[in-house]
Amino acid sequence: MSKPFDIEIASLTDALDPCCATALRPSSDARNDPGAKSFYIETFGCQMNVHDSEKVAGVLLARGYRPVDAAADADFLLYNTCSIREKAAQKVFQRLNDFKFAAKDNQKVIGVLGCVAQQEGEEIFERAPWVSLVCGSASYRNLPNLIEQVESGGRRVTGLDLDTDETFETEITRRDNPFRAYLTIIEGCDYSCSYCVVPHTRGPERSRASDSILVEVRRLADAGYTEIQLLGQTVNSYRDPSPRKWNFVDLLLAVAEIEGIRRVRFTTSHPNDFTREIVEAIDSTPALCDHIHLPVQSGSTRILREMRRTYTREQYLEKISWIHGARREFSLTTDVIVGFPGETEADFEETLTLLDAIQSDGVFAFKYSPRPNTPSLAMPDAIPEEEKSRRLAVLQERQRQIQIARNEKLVGARFEVLVDTHHTARSQWAGRTTSNRIVNFSTSRENFLGQYVQVHITRSAPNSLIGEEVQGGEAE
Ligand code: SAM
Ligand code: SF4
Repeated sequence: MSKPFDIEIASLTDALDPCCATALRPSSDARNDPGAKSFYIETFGCQMNVHDSEKVAGVLLARGYRPVDAAADADFLLYNTCSIREKAAQKVFQRLNDFKFAAKDNQKVIGVLGCVAQQEGEEIFERAPWVSLVCGSASYRNLPNLIEQVESGGRRVTGLDLDTDETFETEITRRDNPFRAYLTIIEGCDYSCSYCVVPHTRGPERSRASDSILVEVRRLADAGYTEIQLLGQTVNSYRDPSPRKWNFVDLLLAVAEIEGIRRVRFTTSHPNDFTREIVEAIDSTPALCDHIHLPVQSGSTRILREMRRTYTREQYLEKISWIHGARREFSLTTDVIVGFPGETEADFEETLTLLDAIQSDGVFAFKYSPRPNTPSLAMPDAIPEEEKSRRLAVLQERQRQIQIARNEKLVGARFEVLVDTHHTARSQWAGRTTSNRIVNFSTSRENFLGQYVQVHITRSAPNSLIGEEVQGGEAE
């Protein structure tokens, strides 16, 4: 996977309490009770998985468990898994061996959650009989019940039901990012891209009621969060199931209006549901961040058809022209798959020319990975692994040049940055602009994680900007 930024935020500091809110904390604070059973969740994969883990942690806190910082110290060890590419899925089975003996000696209870759980189901018990719980994301609403079964000695406990119209909501969510609050507004996916496991692992699309979303955002604002990121595999397909039947733009505007919320992000948008109204809403509402992540997957209409992406190259480019025509300076990022079965050199060249045309600020590029239960598995003309790697490297270099040129133009500009990282060794601070660009900067000030500051850009790199704080330019 290409890294879209030079310095990724590897770890967030403890500047703010990692539990999001007093209102969302368990009444008896199990975190400090050494007698309480402990848990540890390791998360693989996408942002939605990360947020699912935050909610699962909330379920455990509500049951009196306390979180620990290392898997080795946990009584209850959960792996929240990803199966989007083969490598991610393999990693989980390697991990399951780590605490095999502790689990066999009843010193630990081990559970597998998420996409691998859903995909492999009870087969996991065959491969790793020391696992006690296997639960896919569409069954998380039953977790309290499933955990109760495990607590009373149940083994081979499963939650594998996919046929649901419910979303996973919890009273308590243990938010680990102290600056940006994630919130899932739509779960599952109703598309059927030929390479993708998500419809099989996360179930059908279901949106969360707008009222419940707004209540949670207000609680987050009261708890001090200023930045919200709305999540969904196809976040912009949002359809309010409540009688007011809001669409995605209605919801975006309502969230942006909540007092205390300064930044609203959303990911991932599907090009098919990406409308002009979304661009207009961002253009006219400063709290809506001017960054769009719009995965294209391929620049060739022929390959897009094989992928069942439901749009052509030209239709995608038309949507990009709305973004390029906006009054605000939007930042665009995208996902690309190289080496899809049957992708010719000419198809690949079309992807490269599309990248030239769209001028994005980041590309998550992946080699096609054949996945179980997906239509593309049976497609002819598989591309050899070395050729996939070659195409990936060519694409990454082409995109690197685009980013170098784009970022150079930003030298001299001034950005508002939400500070979220302190690199102590380099005595540098870092944060993100509303357009999601990473800015590393120096300042004489101390202790201002979580604040908004103005930064003057003095240098650029392919994946980030470097600057200095504008003295007296604090934005509160
Ligand atoms: N729902 C989003 C969309 O429609 O663009 C994508 C969600 S998927 C979890 C994230 C990315 O993983 C995709 O955009 C795609 O680029 C990549 N991906 C999914 N399946 C893949 C596969 N079989 N091989 C390689 N990359 C894959
Ligand atoms: Fe997968 Fe396609 Fe759904 Fe995205 S839209 S989650 S790529 S099936």
